[in-house]
Amino acid sequence: MWSWLARVVRWLFWVLVAILVWRWIREWVRSPREAARRAPRPPDVLVQDPMCGTYVPRSRAVQAAGPTGTLYFCSRQCADRYIRERHSASRRS
Ligand SMILES: [Zn+2]
Repeated sequence: MWSWLARVVRWLFWVLVAILVWRWIREWVRSPREAARRAPRPPDVLVQDPMCGTYVPRSRAVQAAGPTGTLYFCSRQCADRYIRERHSASRRS
């Protein structure tokens, strides 16, 4: 005699599943665009040139791989000089 209730509950369950799947699909389809829109380019931060101490915007800095990560320089000359001096320093020790 409760079979109609069981049927309603089952029906509601599938409706819920359908809604969740639909939301998940919509989220999945939209996410690349949404993520791009929600996360704009990070603000340009100032980075310090370890060679001469000058602060330069990261977008315009010369990048070089350092022992602790990426290093930023104000110019190619500073980067080259830093790499040369570091090499000679590591050779000395
Ligand atoms: Zn410099």
